[in-house]
Amino acid sequence: MSTETKTQQPQSWGRYPAVKSARVEEVFWRSELPDLAQLERSVLPFGYGRSYGDSCLNEGGVSLDMSHLRRFISFDEEEGILCCEAGVSLAEILEVIVPRGWFIPVSPGTKFVSVGGAIANDVHGKNHHKAGTFGCHVLRFKLLRSNGERLVCSPEENTELFQATIGGLGLTGVILWAEIRLKPIVNPYIDMESIQFSSLSEFVQISADTDKKYEYSMSWVDILIGGDALCRGLFMCGNNDQSRQRPKQLTGKKLPLAVPFDFPSFALNTFTVKSFNELIFHTQLRKHIHKVVPYEPFFYPLDFIHNWNRMYGKRGFLQYQFVVPFEDGFGAMRAILGRIRRSGEGSFLTVLKTFGAVQSPGMLSFPRPGITLALDFAYGGQKTLRLLDDLDKIVRESGGAVYPAKDARMSAENFQAFFPRWEEFSRYVDPHFSSSFWRRVSHSEKLVRV
Ligand SMILES: Cc1cc2nc3c(=O)[nH]c(=O)nc-3n(C[C@H](O)[C@H](O)[C@H](O)COP(=O)(O)OP(=O)(O)OC[C@H]3O[C@@H](n4cnc5c(N)ncnc54)[C@H](O)[C@@H]3O)c2cc1C
Repeated sequence: MSTETKTQQPQSWGRYPAVKSARVEEVFWRSELPDLAQLERSVLPFGYGRSYGDSCLNEGGVSLDMSHLRRFISFDEEEGILCCEAGVSLAEILEVIVPRGWFIPVSPGTKFVSVGGAIANDVHGKNHHKAGTFGCHVLRFKLLRSNGERLVCSPEENTELFQATIGGLGLTGVILWAEIRLKPIVNPYIDMESIQFSSLSEFVQISADTDKKYEYSMSWVDILIGGDALCRGLFMCGNNDQSRQRPKQLTGKKLPLAVPFDFPSFALNTFTVKSFNELIFHTQLRKHIHKVVPYEPFFYPLDFIHNWNRMYGKRGFLQYQFVVPFEDGFGAMRAILGRIRRSGEGSFLTVLKTFGAVQSPGMLSFPRPGITLALDFAYGGQKTLRLLDDLDKIVRESGGAVYPAKDARMSAENFQAFFPRWEEFSRYVDPHFSSSFWRRVSHSEKLVRV
């Protein structure tokens, strides 16, 4: 038998909520999964736990640890088509493909995520306006359903299950392997610009001016400055460098640093966040800089600090990412940032981007055209939860949405308004699968086998 009980409980990146699965089953071979229909409790696959909230957690249920399914199956080096098991991480893929002139088509802000997790959250990267989501580059995958069926799903075959599984939060079955189309590169460097901006309207202007020229963009922002400017920050944009003179492989890797212990809860407060923001904003002495950098610090700056989530202390933190449509973007952002400032809660890492119009294939995919902001709040009990409920209300009134991969508390009513295709999606949820998130947002009680 391929599975055994594992003592380590799944935990999400925000470490909130801290819940326990009844059992963890480790999967080593894709031919030897347990009989899912016979498990006495509902099942949920688990990748590397880089989701922040509870969409990867299954309190009281069975968690299927997919992180050992990490074999490469095939790689067409001419066409850039890679097939691998669902537990292979983006970091492992990059090791193999970058020296061969290929890159991940869409990458989130950490490379320590599995292919299965990237599909199940239909993750987005810095190039949404050009390349859409990860799911746009998935050619096909194999899905194991609890009735034992193993279905190849693609835009042409089992189309509805394909669309339900991309962004399907692990609820439609177990992805065993996936085939993805990679992106060709000349070398592993990024030709980038970093531009200081002093207001939200300046951000929108720079974004509009650079969108056509650059494939990648994102901004670090300081939202605590107040006033009409609403925020200030550094706008970073870039393209894969095209020089044939540069080496094909990066050398001299930096060893990652690690946060050795949980910080005390008072360590992150409005004062430390303001000081941190001052420091970051002024590390760039000129308004505009242009440089060529290795891809890793550009795409994955946080991966250089292992366990940075421990900075938020034992109680953990909540990440809140929303998107609001461009039309009412300013009004909604003004209301949201005003509410956050009044709360006195400082967000330590705040990232601002725009999403473009490329349609995501998933029924529950989060990205849609508009402005998206991701904020981190140390968990401070009811006060934090009340703040986020208030933000949900503004996002909902503007016609936007909140990202399930980073959520641990949104109400069923809000989820259903943010994701109008949720009922269509729920027809494809496997009858033996569930998650803490899904039980909350769909009002379903499926924990014990029916
Ligand atoms: C520092 C950091 C930066 C991030 N930046 C971004 C970003 O820029 N954009 C973005 O979109 N996200 C971002 N994220 C979120 C992260 O990319 C997603 O949550 C990703 O899905 C996590 O993958 P994982 O392998 O850790 O999966 P987990 O978090 O363990 O699980 C995620 C979901 O995938 C399902 N799943 C896992 N494996 C399988 C499988 N084999 N079959 C079926 N379902 C499966 C789970 O059930 C769960 O619903 C970031 C996270 C961190 C920590």
